Amino acid sequence: MTEGTAHQALYRRWRAQTFSEIVGQEAVVQTLRNAVVTGRVAHAILFTGPRGTGKTSLARILAKAVNCTDLAPNGDPCDRCPSCVAIRDGRAMDLVEIDAASNRGIDNIRDLRERLAYAPQDLRRKVYILDEAHQITKDGWNALLKSLEEPPEFVTFMFASTHPQDFPPAILSRVQRFDVRRLTVAEITGKLEMILAADGREVDPEAVRLIARLAAGGMRDAESILDQLLSSTAGPITAEAVRDLLGLADTESVRNFLVALVGGDPGGGISILDGLEERGRDLRVFLDQAVESLRERMLADVGQGRPVEPVVVAAARRLAAIDTARLGAGGLRLQLELALLDTAVSSAVSAAPPSAVLPRPMAPGATSASASTPAPAAARPADPAPAAPTPTPPVDPAPAIAVESHPSGAPELARASSRGHPAPSATVPEPRSALPSPAAPGPKSDPAPAPSGDLERLRDGWRDVIAIIGANPAVKPLISDCRPMAVEGNTVTIAFPEEKPFYRENLERRRTALEAGLGQFLGHTVGVRCVAANFELIPQLPSAVDEARILEEAHRIFADDLADIPEIT
Ligand SMILES: [Zn+2]
Repeated sequence: MTEGTAHQALYRRWRAQTFSEIVGQEAVVQTLRNAVVTGRVAHAILFTGPRGTGKTSLARILAKAVNCTDLAPNGDPCDRCPSCVAIRDGRAMDLVEIDAASNRGIDNIRDLRERLAYAPQDLRRKVYILDEAHQITKDGWNALLKSLEEPPEFVTFMFASTHPQDFPPAILSRVQRFDVRRLTVAEITGKLEMILAADGREVDPEAVRLIARLAAGGMRDAESILDQLLSSTAGPITAEAVRDLLGLADTESVRNFLVALVGGDPGGGISILDGLEERGRDLRVFLDQAVESLRERMLADVGQGRPVEPVVVAAARRLAAIDTARLGAGGLRLQLELALLDTAVSSAVSAAPPSAVLPRPMAPGATSASASTPAPAAARPADPAPAAPTPTPPVDPAPAIAVESHPSGAPELARASSRGHPAPSATVPEPRSALPSPAAPGPKSDPAPAPSGDLERLRDGWRDVIAIIGANPAVKPLISDCRPMAVEGNTVTIAFPEEKPFYRENLERRRTALEAGLGQFLGHTVGVRCVAANFELIPQLPSAVDEARILEEAHRIFADDLADIPEIT
């Protein structure tokens, strides 16, 4: 029991020894207690859940409970009787723990099976705990199946696994399954505080919260981090020490980066990235911090019934889509820069001032830091990446972006949604979007359909319209990217892609050319109105696909490809 000289890892020292000491997992614990008290513990049990959440601790406690000679009325093992003590100290012959990751083959299982039949020696029941059980091979499972179907009366199998989906169905159907969940920040914080109090160490509460958040629901990870801190510093544990240990960025940098991201200030964002790299911070960890911060912000809005700003959602989506495994030229740094540039374009249309949009606890002057390097710097990181998703396609974008800024004209349309990706509409409320919504009472039931069928003519002959208006080479890429949307009386409504908000001003400047060209095509004078639209939601043109559309599609597909990444925790 005494651990001698060697340092014993915190998570071992503080491992729960009874059901009462398990943090969280109330439902699982209650069911297990009931099973123990009523003597109906299954012969094969599976604990599944993320790593470090206490699966094998639960298995060991259950092993104690089915063997305890002084069981509490609530099903808790006493942790004092010879059986409990033997199990706790790892001396019980009849408790066999197998790491299936290294003993996964048929020979190991055969071996196990042969010894199954022998009666227990020092416990009432023989318990086999197979950790990482999803690693058992197919042959191994086959060898085990019979034993699971007709186990000796005195044997209990307990499997623990992070990947229950890898179990053969025949096995899954023969086990009683318990899903162990991630722990909440509060649950982890509580246990860490208990450990620190017992150790008599001084600690900044912010440091504990930080560790609890970073552990992403795994108590073992949280305890390991704390362990390292306790052994590496003699004084009080500070949040700064946690950040140093883990290569974390300070909250100020995270906040300023997000302000730059949401506010469309790529230069400011890039200089923050420079600073982080100079200080040796890990950009992957930084990305996690940024995503987590945006997530907290969005959840807070949702929780309080506030609409989530589309620019915030768009920024979060861009960051979440970043592939942290990508190395080299298209690596993490470039992807962060692209996110900054991408958002700079689409947020130009947002009515919300950036500072109003970001992490609530922001100090009043916080934005100033991000204003250091303005737009020009942004051009640099983009150009070495010809194959990457450049935010602005064919049209001469330079002057257009330079103009931007105020949500010009048409107040009802000033607010763009969060870009052309299909997902957002499901999750993001877009309360103020006044875009024509073709899904429902769209163009067909247009309020005042032009009697002449002008809209149909425009749709069918859009290529000709492009040819007429596009005779002016400066206007061609612009009009090629637009579509006829509606005709009311003599007013033609043209839609431009909502992810290119700067088109509005370009189109306004070309109004005369547009009206002349459309008038020429239709054979009467017309006025023009320009609206932003999500092209994925409005009807395709019959002739559809011109080069600009192909380019845009390629861009979209590539972006989707980038979005296909594993979970961020
Ligand atoms: Zn006991």
